[in-house]
Amino acid sequence: MAEYSALSLLKNALSANRDWKPAWRKPEPKPAYDVVIIGGGGHGLSTAWYLAKEHGITNVAVLEKGYLGSGNIGRNTTIIRSNYLLPENTRFYEHSMKLWENLSHELNYNVMFSQRGVLNLAHTPSQLDDFARRGNAMRHEGIDAELIVGAAAVGRLVPGLDVSGSARFPIIGGLLQPRAGTARHDAVAWGYARAADRRGVDMIENCEVTGFLREGDRIVGVSTTRGEIRAGKVAVAVAGSTGRVMKLAGIERLPIESHVLQAFVSEALKPVLHTVVTFGAGHLYASQSDKGGLVFGGDIDGYNSYAQRGNLPVVEEVASEFVAMFPGFSRVRLLRSWGGIMDMSMDGSPIITTGPLPGMYLNCGWCYGGFKATPASGYCFAHTIARDEQHPLSAAFTLDRFQRGILIDEKGQGATPRLH
Ligand SMILES: Cc1cc2nc3c(=O)[nH]c(=O)nc-3n(C[C@H](O)[C@H](O)[C@H](O)COP(=O)(O)OP(=O)(O)OC[C@H]3O[C@@H](n4cnc5c(N)ncnc54)[C@H](O)[C@@H]3O)c2cc1C
Repeated sequence: MAEYSALSLLKNALSANRDWKPAWRKPEPKPAYDVVIIGGGGHGLSTAWYLAKEHGITNVAVLEKGYLGSGNIGRNTTIIRSNYLLPENTRFYEHSMKLWENLSHELNYNVMFSQRGVLNLAHTPSQLDDFARRGNAMRHEGIDAELIVGAAAVGRLVPGLDVSGSARFPIIGGLLQPRAGTARHDAVAWGYARAADRRGVDMIENCEVTGFLREGDRIVGVSTTRGEIRAGKVAVAVAGSTGRVMKLAGIERLPIESHVLQAFVSEALKPVLHTVVTFGAGHLYASQSDKGGLVFGGDIDGYNSYAQRGNLPVVEEVASEFVAMFPGFSRVRLLRSWGGIMDMSMDGSPIITTGPLPGMYLNCGWCYGGFKATPASGYCFAHTIARDEQHPLSAAFTLDRFQRGILIDEKGQGATPRLH
């Protein structure tokens, strides 16, 4: 398959773009693979790529019940950052950031990674103290962080933000990570799929896993809507569907809950919002896409759900928070909203692990933050699958941490998944 390059753009332009080849093949499933990955979202696809690239394992199939990228990877608000407090998270997400910084070159696919900065707003002195602590923790790990003190300094960074003392929730500063930003989410799925396909990985779309093949306790394959497929190793990366898929293997209880999270996009505007901004007095994050739409989201809907759509109260809440921050956007029209199923873990941190059954590997618990984790998650999960051991960067993300009480409670909120 041809490299994407300026030359190939020119060549195809001259033939009226009729000669582009599909980005990945559409093979029939083989009877057996070394590794079967369930879930053609960001994490399944990146795992396939790093299995091929880092470990030379290419007899791999990614099984997706819909089309590649139809889940959360194509539904998120695209924010990428590594501004965490706890070292287990900070190091993992910073590794992801470093992979993002070279991803378009690595995949030969423009994922439109844009390091426009992420600014968390502070509205109280104690919140600003908290940000100073988090910023210091980041800088200890060699990660960029800047404490912004004073409303005027924030106003210079983000024109349009209400930094007046009479705002509903007056702003007094913020924590900025300049290297953070956004990427084009669909392109991330397509780029990983194309790159893995070029190494020989089979992308099997419209192939729902409906059961597991077992020999005793051991998982030795899957039954699907396209027949049985045997596998040396079976990896599960289905995000919000984890509970349902694991139930097919007889695992009834997991330390995660599925919730719906909505996102919103406005009509296109001229460039007005140059950084990603998060509201500190409620829960709202906003950026402007390269097409001009204001992309924003807030809290999960607050009840367990497997539906990929949400309800109106959250629409109202999120819109009112956005207008409290940016009064000037009150007349901007909302274009679309949608929802995705979130895999919320009990401590807000992910699970990347061998097991819980022999022959099985599990990747889930991404809460609000799995998009930015996509490269590091695939990188570490591929290591775990290939070597049957935790990668040092994801060593803490085991399933048994919930049994052993070694939680990675980033926000200190306790076992309340809807708060993480
Ligand atoms: C509205 C919204 C906004 C978000 N914003 C951000 C953000 O700004 N930044 C950030 O870092 N994260 C964000 N996230 C979280 C992030 O998108 C997810 O954590 C991440 O995408 C989950 O991993 P994934 O890409 O592999 O999941 P998915 O893309 O959901 O992949 C799982 C796949 O498994 C497939 N599947 C399920 N069951 C089966 C089966 N039985 N057989 C075969 N296939 C199956 C599904 O069809 C799906 O395609 C957001 C999420 C949502 C919903």
